[in-house]
Amino acid sequence: MFATLSDRLSAAFSSLRGKGRLSEADIEATVTEIRRALLDADVALPVVRSFTATVRERASSAEVSRALNPSQQIVKIVNEELTQILGGSARELRFAKRPPTVILLAGLQGAGKTTLAGKLGHWLRSEGHTPLLVAADLQRPNAVQQLQIVGENAGVPVWAPEPGNGTGDPVAVARTGVAHAKDRYYDVVVVDTAGRLGVDAEMMRQAADIRDAVSPDEILFVVDAMIGQDAVTTANAFAEGVGFTGVVLSKLDGDARGGAALSVAQVTGAPVLFASTGEKVTDFERFHPDRMASRILD
Ligand code: GDP
Repeated sequence: MFATLSDRLSAAFSSLRGKGRLSEADIEATVTEIRRALLDADVALPVVRSFTATVRERASSAEVSRALNPSQQIVKIVNEELTQILGGSARELRFAKRPPTVILLAGLQGAGKTTLAGKLGHWLRSEGHTPLLVAADLQRPNAVQQLQIVGENAGVPVWAPEPGNGTGDPVAVARTGVAHAKDRYYDVVVVDTAGRLGVDAEMMRQAADIRDAVSPDEILFVVDAMIGQDAVTTANAFAEGVGFTGVVLSKLDGDARGGAALSVAQVTGAPVLFASTGEKVTDFERFHPDRMASRILD
């Protein structure tokens, strides 16, 4: 995760090491290297622009020129600014005052929603909750069965379409699933929805209809960190079509260049709540912007 970006950033700092004073040329050369490293990692251009402008401004200021060790000071600035673009401080999942809390998952097909439903369910159980997963992805063949397997692995029950449960109609499945959760005192409902390979109007409408039917407390936009620059376009389309309250970055274990992670939160203004780092139910972590920034600069 972020290996190339990490290497490139540490190379950018290496020419500064040991210097007692930094000239403007030193700072400019470093900022240029940082800019290249971010662009090569697929970070969206507007994010790179504002990031490098802030780093340049702070690096030229008195806080650096007066520092005993200017290069360390620059690493610190980059760390703080990376934390900032990753969302600042970690945000907790929001629970409803009156259960059940409803969490809607949205994103493209293959983004990792169904896998995430199992991970979330497993994590929620470990936190003392009684989650229910709802299979409202009726588009993709086998999606319902996949969620049932995921639920079994996570030890979390699944509400799936059957005669009487709104067979064929994802909005009805979601609605009956939430009603079932209320009846049986499940305190969190995770609703898996259908995605398409690309953004399309009908998929957006369906997700919005499900949203209107179940009034979610959180809408999590799940995005594959490996799709690079497309992450921002997709995020913007979902922000407009469905809206979301948080982001989940999936497949951070791949050789992702990390650009999605560094762009989506900044561009959409929605915080990253979780990271998915593999196919197993436990390959899942809460997202901490400061820890992620430190990992990148390690
Ligand atoms: P959905 O269409 O959004 O529901 O996506 P799925 O949950 O079916 O995931 C698509 C594929 O990505 C599956 O083969 C998953 O096993 C895989 N996958 C999901 N999350 C991760 C992850 O964090 N890391 C890796 N390496 N694979 C993942």
